[in-house]
Amino acid sequence: MAQNDNPLNMSRAYSPADTESRIYKFWEESGYFKPDTSSDSPPFVMIMPPPNVTGELHMGHALTVAIEDMIVRWHRMKGEPTLFLPGTDHAGIATQVVVERLLATEGLNRYQLGREKFEARIWEWVETYGTRIYEQLRRLGTSCDWSRSKFTLDEIPRAAVRKTFVDLYNKGLIYRGERIANWCLRCSTALSDLEVKYMEVNGNLYQIRYPFSDGSGFIVVATTRPETMLGDTAVAVNPEDERFKKYIGKEIKLPLTNRLIPIIADGAVEAEFGTGALKVTPAHDPVDFEIGLRNNLPVITVIGDDGTMNSAAGEFQGLDRFKCRTLIEDQLKAQGLLVKTDSFQHSIGHCDRCDEIIEPLISKQWYISMESLAAPAIKAVKENQIRIIPERFTSVYFNWMENIRDWPVSRQLWWGHQIPVWYCEDCLSETVTNEDPQTCQSCGSSQIQQDQDVLDTWFSSGLWTHSTLGWPNDTEDLKSFYPGSVMETGYDILFFWVARMIMLGISNMGQIPFHTIYLHGLVLDPEGVKMSKTKGNVLNPLDLIDEYGADAVRFALTTGTSAGNNLRMNEQKLESSRNFANKLWNASRFVISNLNKKETSIKFSKPENILNRHDKWIISRLDQVTQDVNRLMEDFQFGEAQTHIHDFLWNEYCDWYIELTKDRLKVQDVESPLSILAYILERTLRLLHPFLPFVTEEIWANLCKSLDTPEDWPNSLITAEYPVISATTIDEPSIIEMGKLIDFIRAIRNMKSELNIQQRQKIECRIASEMESSLVESEKSTLEKFAGLSISEISDSHLLQLHSGEISIVENLGTAYISLGEGVDLGGELERLRNEQNELSKYISSLTKRLSNQSFINKAPEEVVEKEKGRLKRSTDRETRINEILETLN
Ligand SMILES: [Zn+2]
Ligand SMILES: [Zn+2]
Repeated sequence: MAQNDNPLNMSRAYSPADTESRIYKFWEESGYFKPDTSSDSPPFVMIMPPPNVTGELHMGHALTVAIEDMIVRWHRMKGEPTLFLPGTDHAGIATQVVVERLLATEGLNRYQLGREKFEARIWEWVETYGTRIYEQLRRLGTSCDWSRSKFTLDEIPRAAVRKTFVDLYNKGLIYRGERIANWCLRCSTALSDLEVKYMEVNGNLYQIRYPFSDGSGFIVVATTRPETMLGDTAVAVNPEDERFKKYIGKEIKLPLTNRLIPIIADGAVEAEFGTGALKVTPAHDPVDFEIGLRNNLPVITVIGDDGTMNSAAGEFQGLDRFKCRTLIEDQLKAQGLLVKTDSFQHSIGHCDRCDEIIEPLISKQWYISMESLAAPAIKAVKENQIRIIPERFTSVYFNWMENIRDWPVSRQLWWGHQIPVWYCEDCLSETVTNEDPQTCQSCGSSQIQQDQDVLDTWFSSGLWTHSTLGWPNDTEDLKSFYPGSVMETGYDILFFWVARMIMLGISNMGQIPFHTIYLHGLVLDPEGVKMSKTKGNVLNPLDLIDEYGADAVRFALTTGTSAGNNLRMNEQKLESSRNFANKLWNASRFVISNLNKKETSIKFSKPENILNRHDKWIISRLDQVTQDVNRLMEDFQFGEAQTHIHDFLWNEYCDWYIELTKDRLKVQDVESPLSILAYILERTLRLLHPFLPFVTEEIWANLCKSLDTPEDWPNSLITAEYPVISATTIDEPSIIEMGKLIDFIRAIRNMKSELNIQQRQKIECRIASEMESSLVESEKSTLEKFAGLSISEISDSHLLQLHSGEISIVENLGTAYISLGEGVDLGGELERLRNEQNELSKYISSLTKRLSNQSFINKAPEEVVEKEKGRLKRSTDRETRINEILETLN
């Protein structure tokens, strides 16, 4: 091990900055991050969600790593050959945009450079900055196997993409279709439905008269986008709508164009919306497109993919779509065809990446037909081959998968996996092969051109479970590590990524890619708001690591974590995590310095034949906690497991056990608690390692150097065995007895603080304990020391006669009769407490009233409601305490 040069001298305070990089280097250079491929045990495999190659560590990554690395370290300590495989994603649009911005500063754009040079520029960028995120992940302590890291554009993942495309094409599951797609004008590409976000926008609803061609009147249509009327090819009404039945089959003379279009019936028209008559523009609206397909309507595109009106728009050609809207409004008004304009709030699609309003446009795109791929992926979850945690996402998954739409996979970008389809100029057929073709497969012509588009980024990350392991080659890694174990990621990419991995994994490998999906939530700011650059509430994890240490950042992120739930990050969580690491450090220094005072070193082993009650208690509690932690970890309740270890270490080990041993450590002729102090600490460090990897490793090395450890002792905590309890040796009586003693001491201490008596002031006490008098007898000095008592009588009767000037406190251990002495004005203190009780009860009823007011709950911001709830909880806790103390004093 030999990590710290001066082990006998642990610094006064723990310094993450002096420790973390040294320990990380030691782990990595020792090869601990690599799975033991010679082991016969079943492996544990986790593939890391690949961050964007342009990415910089944000709180979302930090949360992902805190959870994943904790799971991974736990499995590694359980002795499973553990693979945690890292990688990065080329992230099509995101990366292309970064480099385009760089070019813009040089006054260049990608078209001026041409595709080849542009791609070269991106590669240059990737080679310079692409591993920055890896360095940042290292700072968090991520124990992944860097020797296996992959980039989605590496040779093997490229081959995987190619083979998948060709296979799906040959199965008839990939087709090129002229479809209406979500088009982002700014990004100049089609987007999948998932890449479109809907936002409320204030617009207008225009009602326009469409005259019948026979001059017999008109029908009024309603639209939010009058400029699209130039591309109308019908007016549709609901066939059941009595108002319009008589018009079906008539013709309209379309205003501003004088084209004749029919009135048709279609069930998709909602009679309640607008006027009930729908203008149909198949080229510019997805619903209209479907109506057009059903009714064989012509498709007239009037808006080009640059957002300006095209030649089909006649006199409006060349105008921006929104400018055209105003002009059309004016002309309709002038012709008396505009009935009215109502302001109208509606939700419209925006580009998820750049916020531009999406223009639905007809284009030729490649699609994957999803239904047959989805079927086995639905079955795998239905039949519990794959478990989704939390469970509630299972129905969300089914709902999406059972209504799955075909996946448009072509993107009009240059950065990514170019679509492996070659078009023949002579016979117009397509050649799709695993190797780049030289000639057309159908006619042998050499006049072939590759499709200019690239594949959606999620196509390559959808193959991540097996392409990272070498597929399509038949590799050892693939045999050893597919299928993987747990797929851990944010719930927000369940469909983007997780569902597609299941479908493509089954399709390529014939086997599910992992058996468990664990979904985590989002990191929110202290007010519960999603962190975003525009809101300025973003925390930078690297700054936090500088300030608090990686351990504290990780610990704060996993504090109270539970699957699928968002978590709020705040300073208080970070501070208490750092305090916890310091508490652990100080307790360890205490134990280690006592070990080092000994002339002969203590043999490390599980203590046996323990006689002392305190020792029996702490060992039993350790066993209980170990059992609980293992059960909770197995059940994916990581936040709960962390709380159990935290509370045990802080409350029981540090606050009670260490304090209880201090006198015994000073005396020579009693059995020393030192070996037990060391044993409990060593086991707790193991339990805690997945949650606080650096500080536990550092302490562990120091502790082990101060102990006489067995021959086969592990070299480092990261590879040490995780504690489990096989045969239980829990001593229940000692737990019950210590529980009574601690409750008793706490009650006395509380009473003292309520009555403003100094804790260190010894007060006279008699104890009546019918059932536990021998316990009280044997722990007399403990009670006197920790409760600040001087015990004058211990009786085995049920009650004693209350002397004047005494108050009694009833606890499970027995009844304490306490003489408060001259200095305490009991009557005055009681009155003060009763007053506080009154005030509190008024305050509580006003809070309760407020919180039961439904309109307050509905209207007030969530954080205000939360604050009020917090106040109520604190007040009722305080009230309970006062009630208790008043009851015991009466
Ligand atoms: Zn965009
Ligand atoms: Zn050909």
